[in-house]
Amino acid sequence: MPVLFAMNNEYNVFGSDNINILINNNVWQVWNKYRQKTIFSREACGVLIGGVELKTKTIIVEQCTEPMKNDRRYRNSFTLRDDGHQMAVDFAFQVTEGKQFYLGTWHTHPEPNPFPSYLDEQDWRDCIYRNSDIPSFVFAIVGTKSVSLFPKGKIKNYEFQNT
Ligand SMILES: [Zn+2]
Repeated sequence: MPVLFAMNNEYNVFGSDNINILINNNVWQVWNKYRQKTIFSREACGVLIGGVELKTKTIIVEQCTEPMKNDRRYRNSFTLRDDGHQMAVDFAFQVTEGKQFYLGTWHTHPEPNPFPSYLDEQDWRDCIYRNSDIPSFVFAIVGTKSVSLFPKGKIKNYEFQNT
């Protein structure tokens, strides 16, 4: 079982034998904010932006977008429709001269320890297919109690700290 092995001012660091994932604390805070804590909460979603260090097999999630006006959000589903998500990806790519790029998506589920739905997995396969130039991907599902991270489809589950 992969474990949280470090937390500092900047990153939550997750790892297992074959991959490390660094989540910038700003991203973690956004996820925490959109957790579906009440029965009225709707699913939230956005894209993940960051870089990959192939040598150390590390995926670094530096930033994420938040739900935008033209997204469709329901209790049990969502669709990323607002152009702002792609604009954020393009902007990050430009200002970092290609060091940061699209890494995947995040969305919330109204369950404590979230598992992907059939549609989620289909959606992720489509994302990977459409972005064949990207070396690694990570997809996140934010539950009410923990976050599940899926680097290239592998299941890992991480609890929120101090909440
Ligand atoms: Zn889902």
